[in-house]
Amino acid sequence: MAFDLADLLATRHGEGYALAEQYLNPQLSRTLHAIGFDRAYERAEGAYLYDADGHRYADFLAGFGVFGVGRNHPVVIRALHQMLDAGLADLVQFDCALLPGLLAERLLAKAPGLDRVYFGNSGTEAVEAALKFARYATGRRRIIYCDHAFHGLTTGSLSVNGAAEFRSGFAPLLPDTMIPFGDLDALAAELRKGDVAALLIEPIQGKGVHVVPPGFLAAAATLLHEHGALLICDEVQTGLGRTGRFFGYQHEDVQPDIVTVAKALSGGFVPVGATLAKDWIFQKVYSSMDRVLVHDSTFGSNAAAMAAGLAALSVIDDEDLVGNAERTGAALRVALQLLVDKYELLTEVRGRGLMIGLEGAPGRPGGAVRADGGRRAVRPAPDPDPGPWRPHRGDQAPPAADHRRGRGGAVPRQFPGCDGGRRPGQRADLGLRPDADQAGGQRPSAVMVTSPLVISTSATFRSCGYVILMLRSLPGTTATGTSGR
Ligand code: PLP
Repeated sequence: MAFDLADLLATRHGEGYALAEQYLNPQLSRTLHAIGFDRAYERAEGAYLYDADGHRYADFLAGFGVFGVGRNHPVVIRALHQMLDAGLADLVQFDCALLPGLLAERLLAKAPGLDRVYFGNSGTEAVEAALKFARYATGRRRIIYCDHAFHGLTTGSLSVNGAAEFRSGFAPLLPDTMIPFGDLDALAAELRKGDVAALLIEPIQGKGVHVVPPGFLAAAATLLHEHGALLICDEVQTGLGRTGRFFGYQHEDVQPDIVTVAKALSGGFVPVGATLAKDWIFQKVYSSMDRVLVHDSTFGSNAAAMAAGLAALSVIDDEDLVGNAERTGAALRVALQLLVDKYELLTEVRGRGLMIGLEGAPGRPGGAVRADGGRRAVRPAPDPDPGPWRPHRGDQAPPAADHRRGRGGAVPRQFPGCDGGRRPGQRADLGLRPDADQAGGQRPSAVMVTSPLVISTSATFRSCGYVILMLRSLPGTTATGTSGR
């Protein structure tokens, strides 16, 4: 019988976790069992996931930022169907296809001052291209990056990752240099050494939602250019309207030399990355015909990614998602500030547009780590359940227990401080539950503004202490999001 995907999905239904345990990253299913996120989703729409029983879940993770236009947007689906039906001559490699040019034209219209685009397949590839372009164009080797930065996990991007837990064990990496986020003096000191190619920076750091200090990007650009170095803005998280501007750097009067985007440009379907840069940089890197492929990737510019990207950009414009992110984000921050004022569990709300971080107190002496790295004194909240966390009998719900048996040992508590106020006897379910609105009521399921417990617990996948609320920026819709340290 000919291959039939629908048949495969039906006959192997429910085997996802077992297959992952056997054939994929073994820690993924283990982690999801441990934190009670071991659901099987059947379908998705907009900001919601649905399980086989029809329960609806507000998706606070948003594929780590992929679903800027929401899941399964009909305009993107239609574009992809049209692309497939067109029987295009895709990936010829030695041709100049129409779609990459059109997508570049449309992206660059949003980025005055930038002239050309390189298309790859992911955020980290966009960053790798930026690093190579900056080094080649300046003839220098050192990249300055920021404490806490995240730019992807391939080796070049890992060299500019500001978190030890990602780097550890992968040395030697590139000899790049970390400075404190937003520290102009530190940048100046590095630039004086004369070997810096570029500063790579997120206008708002995805991990922790730390916003660059006002004026920093413009001042840094001036300083960098005085020293013959470049400003690279990584907009993989912040780009395409999430912060209330099309690019996060556009909150300031600054002109970066290179900009990276990915994630939401996929329309939620086709992996893509794009590196936008000034003409002179492209002219240097691709300086002659024998250098035509000096930086390239086989699947970059593929028709599916280009079609999805064009559709996503259309949706962003047609539905005014950038303006909506600004308006909705402002209202949400006000609402969240009320929660911060009310609950001692929460200490700060920060961000721009719909890229919002809500900082939670770890609930232990010493308090939460602030954006500046200092320690904020947090009033101790009354603790109904003092004492160290330990596994409870209630944790031994069938999937987790089976899993643990298979691995021969208890699952360690991986996310200290994120127990969501659990009491003895409660299952280690840190808060994933069907949307309260699923019974059909009209009330929006804005769990993030009604339950601080859910806010704190939805941060558990990657760490604790913060949750980024990344709402699909459509009027009247609610939650998608992601978490970070
Ligand atoms: N840059 C930033 C700012 C990111 O947040 C990420 C991913 O989260 C990346 C780059 C890497 O993107 P990808 O996971 O598509 O490689």
